[in-house]
Amino acid sequence: MNGNRGTGSGPRLYAPAPGWTLTSDVVVVGSGVAGLTVALRCAAAGAKVTVVTKAQLDDGSTRWAQGGIAAALGEGDTPEQHLADTLVAGAGLCDEPAVRTLVTEGPGAVRRLITTGAHFDADEDSGEILLGREGGHHRNRIVHAGGDATGAEVSRALIEAVRAAEIEFVENALVLDLLTDAEGRAAGVTLHVMGEGRRDGVGAVRARAVVLATGGMGQVFSATTNPHVSTGDGVALALRAGAEVSDLEFVQFHPTVLWLGPDAEGQQPLVSEAVRGEGAHLVDADGVRFMVGQHELAELAPRDIVAKAITRRMQETGTEHMFLDGRHFGAAMWERRFPTILAACRAHGIDPVTQPIPVAPAAHYASGGVRADLRGRTTVPGLYACGEVACTGVHGANRLASNSLLEGLVFAERIAADIAAEPAVPGEPVIPEPAPAPLLASEARYEVQRIMTAGAGVLRSAESLATAAGALERLRTASVEAYDRDGKTAEPCVETWEATNLALVARVLVAAARRREETRGCHWREDRPDRDDQAWRRHLVVRLTPHRTLEVRTTPAADFPPTRGGDRDTAPIVDDGAAPHGPAPDRIASHAVPKESL
Ligand SMILES: Cc1cc2nc3c(=O)[nH]c(=O)nc-3n(C[C@H](O)[C@H](O)[C@H](O)COP(=O)(O)OP(=O)(O)OC[C@H]3O[C@@H](n4cnc5c(N)ncnc54)[C@H](O)[C@@H]3O)c2cc1C
Repeated sequence: MNGNRGTGSGPRLYAPAPGWTLTSDVVVVGSGVAGLTVALRCAAAGAKVTVVTKAQLDDGSTRWAQGGIAAALGEGDTPEQHLADTLVAGAGLCDEPAVRTLVTEGPGAVRRLITTGAHFDADEDSGEILLGREGGHHRNRIVHAGGDATGAEVSRALIEAVRAAEIEFVENALVLDLLTDAEGRAAGVTLHVMGEGRRDGVGAVRARAVVLATGGMGQVFSATTNPHVSTGDGVALALRAGAEVSDLEFVQFHPTVLWLGPDAEGQQPLVSEAVRGEGAHLVDADGVRFMVGQHELAELAPRDIVAKAITRRMQETGTEHMFLDGRHFGAAMWERRFPTILAACRAHGIDPVTQPIPVAPAAHYASGGVRADLRGRTTVPGLYACGEVACTGVHGANRLASNSLLEGLVFAERIAADIAAEPAVPGEPVIPEPAPAPLLASEARYEVQRIMTAGAGVLRSAESLATAAGALERLRTASVEAYDRDGKTAEPCVETWEATNLALVARVLVAAARRREETRGCHWREDRPDRDDQAWRRHLVVRLTPHRTLEVRTTPAADFPPTRGGDRDTAPIVDDGAAPHGPAPDRIASHAVPKESL
């Protein structure tokens, strides 16, 4: 295979030239809570909307969400208290205005979701919505549906509404790259559709606004709660388009994921925090409740604390998992409150009614992502990011449980309002420039996952991260050398595009994790066990330059978008596998990657 015909001037995925074009006002990439809410609100404002999505409409993390949606709806609860809990979980890196926006607009957004058609669990007599409690929340404020099937209900309601509205959707459509005009404004996307007839193969959707709602990147790791589609495509696309990306080092590992054995790979069943919220205990093999005395909230401490405690206990006892004991709930409560989890456990031979559930941490949520302001705008004009792909600053160094569905709802509405108010129309997309970036073979996906799990998982150190950086670099070099030698790259297809995206995201994540020489939130450096507010109460912001070097800067403090201050290191960076240099309060010493073809 020879000769990439990408689009625009920056790095692009290797792909055939677009063979068909579709035009819309707004193109939304992804059909989870974020994408579908943006689509519905934009359509309601009169825009012509096209939703393109990689698999079926309901594929994505949204439908897997169990616990629910956090919102200060209960008696005595206030947005201020929700704000306080969120800031604590975010470990000093939340953007307070963003969190304030989330918690004050959250209750209204949930009510509008109900108006859209979602049914949440309510008291049979009073009709009042039932509110659960999860880790890090000091109040009962989690709206849930079907007991532990909240995401499925949210997804169902939104899909039904999208089908009823005049919204075009294209399934099995993997978006490749952003189209931009001569001024650098987003003008649409290129995509590959596995369809039949007119819209088959690589094409383009032209639009005046592009909304990335591609979800998370859990598939960067071997064990994750995220579905197969969560390959970080949106972050990779944004990087190639020159948008700023922030906080990628903060990957939340869910503490209680059903442990399926040492060789289990891919998506693993989650045992929701709500199970601990209802009173299940974390115990070791001897039945000792090891969370008691470690945190005032014991099992309901924020996720990073629980994940670290489990991992520590696993190390101390030389075991591969701990146990979650909810036997005292009894069969009736398991069946009523947690039917999905009960079924998933039983499908794997564990009966939570009579047995403690074996659990271990797994990659769950990307707190970082494409840097977006309070209106969801990225640093590329016309390009928006919403939901898990975005980094609005609401999660800081660690997401508070059940704040992510809420973020998708609240910021989707804000994006729709901004698009409606934004008159700018892009010019013609820039004439395609050949920009060959050889694709990785599809098997590289598993290699990336193994590298990341070993070197950049729950436990990180300078050494483990350096090893990961070296291994990822060798993976890239091999494909570049093969391409330079005989002009060949892996065949462009979904698997190779995804593998290439995963590798890019993994490299940037590792680069950020190496630089952050402290332990904070869900970033746990064994060699730097303390939080260092003096040097590191700031965000790491990265951008891929058109020359494929990684530009890294830090924000002046924890303040988040839209400030543009901070220090910047624009020198090309060389990944020599050496340990990163020590922290400088305002300036990050750089390293990494000659001939960077990220
Ligand atoms: C098991 C589990 C349980 C969870 N429980 C909760 C919970 O109780 N409460 C809570 O608040 N959060 C929870 N979360 C997190 C929450 O579900 C997600 O953060 C949220 O659903 C993300 O929504 P989204 O719309 O941003 O992305 P998603 O729902 O993941 O949707 C992403 C969409 O983008 C599409 N896509 C991806 N790449 C491309 C591409 N290249 N081209 C085209 N389309 C693409 C996907 O196919 C998908 O349609 C949970 C997550 C998991 C995995």
